[in-house]
Amino acid sequence: MFSLAMLLALAFPFLPPPAPVKNDADTGHFLPVSQADVSSSISTTQKVVALTLDDGPSRRYTPIALQVAQTEHIPLTFFLIGQEAVKHPDLVLQEQAAGHVIGNHTWHHPLMGVGDASGAWEVHQTQLLLMKITGQRPTLFRPPGGELNTGTAAAARADGLQLITWNVFPGDTDAKLSADVLAKSVLAHVRPGSIILMHDGGGHRDSSMAA
Ligand SMILES: [Zn+2]
Repeated sequence: MFSLAMLLALAFPFLPPPAPVKNDADTGHFLPVSQADVSSSISTTQKVVALTLDDGPSRRYTPIALQVAQTEHIPLTFFLIGQEAVKHPDLVLQEQAAGHVIGNHTWHHPLMGVGDASGAWEVHQTQLLLMKITGQRPTLFRPPGGELNTGTAAAARADGLQLITWNVFPGDTDAKLSADVLAKSVLAHVRPGSIILMHDGGGHRDSSMAA
């Protein structure tokens, strides 16, 4: 026997979750996040770096990123936004199938002034969605804008997610920058263990993909 909810889940497997909590006071429920809780690079002398792509998946850009990664044998880490992943579960599955790491980057990408209630909502709904699509629980979280003093970062920390920021960012959210400028900026700043932030979603990312 199927309940109505089960039938709906079959018909609309990626139905968006209910609207976030309106009363967004900081309840003090979560401990604040400190820099000690966050990784912006790893300590190593080996010539290794992590390339992370945020704000996808994007129908236009993510396939390009996957193609480049396959050709160049680059393992990527994608920090996904729930409201985009729910529209493109096939791209999430392609990322997973290619062996890339999938992390949580909240549902709506809220920046400042997020309290505990909606912070928890942002983290949990995205975890649930990514688990539903991939069958695996993401273990990494990137706070939108790298902002640590928010309910999203605090909720992710309380959930045992590893908070990952970056120490190399070429500014590719500015779509006016050329691929050459972006590539040179990254190459000028990478060190062993660097975590590089770039984007395959959230706007025009032609330069990012070309770089
Ligand atoms: Zn972002």
